[in-house]
Amino acid sequence: MTRKFALLLLVATLAFTGCDKIRAKVPFLKKKEVVVAATPAPAPVAADAPATPAPDETPSGTTPSSKSPASAGSKNTDTAAVNKNAAVIALCYHNIDEKGSKALTLPIAEFEKEMEAIKTNGFSVIPMQDFLAWRRGEKSIPNKSCIITIDDGWVSAYTNAWPILKKYNYPFTLFIYINYVGTGGKSMSWDQLAEMRDAGVDIESHTYSHSSLKVPGGNVDAKAKALIKQDVAALGVDGWMRKEIIESKQVLEKQLGIKCNVFAYPFGVWSPKAVEIVKEAGYEAAFTVYGQQLHPSSQKELLGRYAVEASKPKIFEDAMKMIGGGQSTVSTGPSEPAYTQLAAVSMVTKPMDGETIGDPKPLIKANLATLGDIDPGSVEMRISGFGPVAVKYDPATKTAQYQMTQKLREPEYTVFISAKSKGKRLETKWNFKYDSTAGPSTGPATDASALPPKATPVAPIPAATPKKK
Ligand SMILES: [Zn+2]
Repeated sequence: MTRKFALLLLVATLAFTGCDKIRAKVPFLKKKEVVVAATPAPAPVAADAPATPAPDETPSGTTPSSKSPASAGSKNTDTAAVNKNAAVIALCYHNIDEKGSKALTLPIAEFEKEMEAIKTNGFSVIPMQDFLAWRRGEKSIPNKSCIITIDDGWVSAYTNAWPILKKYNYPFTLFIYINYVGTGGKSMSWDQLAEMRDAGVDIESHTYSHSSLKVPGGNVDAKAKALIKQDVAALGVDGWMRKEIIESKQVLEKQLGIKCNVFAYPFGVWSPKAVEIVKEAGYEAAFTVYGQQLHPSSQKELLGRYAVEASKPKIFEDAMKMIGGGQSTVSTGPSEPAYTQLAAVSMVTKPMDGETIGDPKPLIKANLATLGDIDPGSVEMRISGFGPVAVKYDPATKTAQYQMTQKLREPEYTVFISAKSKGKRLETKWNFKYDSTAGPSTGPATDASALPPKATPVAPIPAATPKKK
């Protein structure tokens, strides 16, 4: 009986703190769509981390654990209640400080302003593990959700970002690369990481050395290059990559008594081989820095984050609008890697990327705003199985559209859009599926009032694009 009462109390409490798992089971609460504050899970103890102390040792206002019993226990959530229509953005930060490399540093006041903006823009900040549970169909999340991640292991995440994140009660994830931990200077120590773990911060892998996974020793300093050279000599390139992706996870798990199930590619750079090893390692998700809306259909090994930096405020603006962005285009100085423009960008499309439609003659539509200033006469559309089609482009709305006149027959189609911008031809593509029995739409077409238009990840991210840390 006491148990039952405690459960009731929990239901009552969580109903007011925005627990979606509970809300899903309590119909009258379902309506509340835009949950402004984060959704704190009740206890920060990792189910698979017996070393963590009891939850009541957690200081108030700390972020909930990603691997808390709340997320673990949500597995029995009735899947019918899971809102597949939600959309998620992931933000990527580095050094939250007053001084530092331009591309990696965001002043503290600016960081706080952005945390406020997340709230005022109607996002709910959710733990990484809730995002994964949602993707597995085990847990509902608010329709407009946001994941906060901080990369590398700068001590400023501990000293500067964390107090602000606590104040907002935002859960977040740290992506740590092993070789940086405890090296002094601006690096975080293992003790600091353990303290954050105990407070429920999600800690995940960002490789061993922070080398580009495309090129052994790419984009790291001479000392790191020398170590990687040794690794490659001893282990071969594949073995070295396994160390970066698999061993880094094992080290974090052993050092901190946690489970790591998420990975972030250094500089957002990946290769097919890296993706293969990410799968082999058993990661449930891996992130690039290619800002985009995330849906259950987004490829789990290539989930894009908006890499926020002081010199490119548009990236954060795009994130708040949930549109494509996050790509970095300029080299910022001699100490920074040279950035290359991504050939593809995210766009708002219809049908959405990965969507299954039942209409044999759909309207194919894309908003090209994220392509920048394009020459209106240069827009072309091609559809697999059909070739070039008579696309109409409206410069006022930046919308390219084509009404199918022939019936779809194939189970899967790819739409290609290209346009010229400042003399350069940009091309992007996305896929949709056709199933004559599918009904009107399986995409998040309904209940969209709280959301901006759907942006979709489109063309594959060029693997060779170096990005900032
Ligand atoms: Zn990094």
